[in-house]
Amino acid sequence: MSGVGKGVSVASMGALLKARGLKVTAVKIDPYLNVDPGTLNPTEHGEVFVTKDGLETDQDIGNYERFLDEDLSRVNYMTSGSIFQTIINRERAMGYHGKTVEWVPDVPNEIISRIKTAANDADADVTLVEIGGTVGEYQNLLYLEACRMMHLESPKDVLLALVSYLPVPGNLGEMKTKPTQYAARSLNAAGLQPDFIICRSAFPIDEPRKRKLSISCNVAAEDVIAAPDVESIYAVPVKFEEEGVGDRIVSKLGLKAPKKDGKHWRDLIKNIKSSTKPIKIGVVGKYFSTGDFTLSDAYLSVLEAIKHAAWAIRRKPEIVWLNSEDFEKNPGTVATTLKKLDGIIIPGGFGARGIEGKLMAMKYAREHKLPYLGLCYGMQLGLIEIARDVLGWKDANTTEIDPNTSHPVIHLMDEQQKKMEDKNYGGTMRLGEYPCVLKKGSKARALYDLEIVRERHRHRYEANPEYRKEFEKVGVVFSGMSPDEKLAEIIELKNHSFFMASQFHPELTSRPFRPNPLFLGFAKAAAKR
Ligand code: GLN
Repeated sequence: MSGVGKGVSVASMGALLKARGLKVTAVKIDPYLNVDPGTLNPTEHGEVFVTKDGLETDQDIGNYERFLDEDLSRVNYMTSGSIFQTIINRERAMGYHGKTVEWVPDVPNEIISRIKTAANDADADVTLVEIGGTVGEYQNLLYLEACRMMHLESPKDVLLALVSYLPVPGNLGEMKTKPTQYAARSLNAAGLQPDFIICRSAFPIDEPRKRKLSISCNVAAEDVIAAPDVESIYAVPVKFEEEGVGDRIVSKLGLKAPKKDGKHWRDLIKNIKSSTKPIKIGVVGKYFSTGDFTLSDAYLSVLEAIKHAAWAIRRKPEIVWLNSEDFEKNPGTVATTLKKLDGIIIPGGFGARGIEGKLMAMKYAREHKLPYLGLCYGMQLGLIEIARDVLGWKDANTTEIDPNTSHPVIHLMDEQQKKMEDKNYGGTMRLGEYPCVLKKGSKARALYDLEIVRERHRHRYEANPEYRKEFEKVGVVFSGMSPDEKLAEIIELKNHSFFMASQFHPELTSRPFRPNPLFLGFAKAAAKR
């Protein structure tokens, strides 16, 4: 089922192989028909992660980057929409030389060729491929077929791991293996035999059940891997190592692994466990609800970046998810809620819903010197709040919300204006990595300790340069600018403990062993409080 931990399993296997000195890359396959997830609603899809070269992808690419500590690119991600787009364009250009284009083998062949491109680009010894969705569903059949064809071509080079959930129904109190047996059967029906079964469950699978799965699924007992819930996803590589996953993969693929060094992962876990003194961070967002459940999936990288920064200073991150619409309904709760926190973050977002609540939170943070970190929309709204409350331009806004405002402090650049008029929405934002020059003497420059940094973007609107002078007069420092000085990339406030916001998304480059400097600075300011 979805959300069972395939991404973290893939990422953790990659981490184990990398720790053995092997070159590793990873590919994520999303079977849906959207060309990329960029146009999907965040509550529906969760976070959109952006690669350095500007592809909008699934959050699993973020997991791979964090666990592998490698930058991935557009070759590491595909959807069925992108596959069919390529095939149909190729057919239109006579690329199939007058032959009939068939579901099989033409679609699997395109899938395989993309996997090989990713492998070659990274010069990888091992390429991990995650097939999204659930075995037995219609959507991913052609990917299973691709897997079968790759295995047929080179049986010793392809391994298949089934990640399955083993429920422990409350009324029984016993772990059940039958759904996993059926999942393995479904794979068999697709002509595939799993080499590993990763047993996701609340508890570790015991020996009798390992044997049961081994016999019924035709998998060696030592390849039935316990994968119980753990407190931190970063414990998974360590757990997998204990289960022998790394050694088993290396031996099955007949690889020579030069070393084995998992100490940094064990140290990270020790560090997490010994970081007991909390910092309380509020994240003021709006993409939380699906029915009766509250999900913070839309802010996954933000959550991870907070953790990385907090652990680096030996603090336990306590994250409070705050729905900005609740502030709008009960303005009295802004102060009572925020005064209990050590810092707040306003992450990325789109559209008008919930922004007044975010502006209330920001005003509180600015006036009460509560550490503040704004991410993308969080920077744009920061400028709007200052324009309204400090500069007195009551109707200041972004043209995304109010195209007729008399103070468009955030606006569209001409090329984006044209795209909007043409309804050209997919993959057309300012996407991916751009350079940013940091101003001498600024907090941002001190935090990065660099003159030029490269961070990743995903937005259409920009700070309007016409108002820059006015903002500077009231203590706003434009501490990060595009090299041509046209675009504001970071703002900070003088006379504030920590008020920093970026037009880019610093959360996307944060790694467990290398927190992003803006998050680290924010965590330190929060800890001081
Ligand atoms: N909605 C804003 C824009 O398009 C901000 C986007 C974001 O926060 N990622 O510019």
